[in-house]
Amino acid sequence: AKPAVSVLGLGMMGSALAAALLKAGYPITVWNRTAAKTGPLVAQGAAPAADVAEAVEAGELLVLTLTANDAVRELLEPLADRLRGRTIANLTNGTPAQARELAAFAAEHGARYLDGGIMASPQMIAGPHAYIYYSGDQEAFGEYEDTFRVLGGARYVGEDAGRAAVHDFALLIGMYGQGIGTMHAFALAKAVGIPAKEIAEPLRDWLNAMALYIMEEAEALDSGEHLTDVSSLAVNQAALPNLLNTLAGEGVTTEFFQPLERLIDRAVEEGYGADGLSRLPDLLTPRR
Ligand code: NDP
Repeated sequence: AKPAVSVLGLGMMGSALAAALLKAGYPITVWNRTAAKTGPLVAQGAAPAADVAEAVEAGELLVLTLTANDAVRELLEPLADRLRGRTIANLTNGTPAQARELAAFAAEHGARYLDGGIMASPQMIAGPHAYIYYSGDQEAFGEYEDTFRVLGGARYVGEDAGRAAVHDFALLIGMYGQGIGTMHAFALAKAVGIPAKEIAEPLRDWLNAMALYIMEEAEALDSGEHLTDVSSLAVNQAALPNLLNTLAGEGVTTEFFQPLERLIDRAVEEGYGADGLSRLPDLLTPRR
């Protein structure tokens, strides 16, 4: 039989998760702070909980997707003595430290805890490209893996509850970095009167082409062999001021790129001019 799942938090993501579970035939109870948001899911067959306590009572598996983990803690703390025997799958974005704190809180009250990082937009949930990182209680993951697979791929990354957040942020950091580049490309285009659309397609293709080097950089980083036949730090050091001057010349801020310029200058000063970009991650952890 399919386990009873309570979905707490019906924002864009929580609603998508609940809808996917309903569609797959799971008995679902839903709760949201703003009760009106339960409407569409109740119409699809979900049971509305009158309050959080009822939602906790109704589900052996509790899936939470709130804005932030402070809210998760606030929500569950008053119900701590009702958590015994339940499994919490907290898919709310948060830090590794928060995940470990929530895992300890759950353990204290006899509940099992999994922390999750959702690598998907709400529209991708249950589709072929969605997956979720999970970490924490391995037994609980095994028990509910079939349920999790309804939402997309389920990648278990370790007993340390904080691990999923690390994997999640590794990808998000890459994404935001790319986002910073993209917004500057658009700002520059706009500043000189080129429609964003005109650079969007070549930019997408260029980023895809450059993404191929991620694997090579990882290999270089893991092996410590940074000498490159692709693009040296010295040649990047020569080009970067041109990039900053071009931005500045069109009135676009250079403040996001100045730290990169300083980092590459430092790498070359330290004698790594012939190395590739794979040298840089080591320079970002000066305390190691
Ligand atoms: P929304 O803003 O759509 O929803 C936020 C949800 O959190 C709402 O249900 C809201 O309730 C609830 N909430 C916020 N604060 C509290 C509180 N103090 N007490 C109770 N409930 C609260 O956000 P998303 O659904 O997009 O995101 C939810 C989580 O999923 C976030 O951690 C996000 O980082 C993560 N995520 C989202 C992705 C996305 O593409 N959307 C992708 C991957 C992860 P109310 O309706 O009453 O305001």
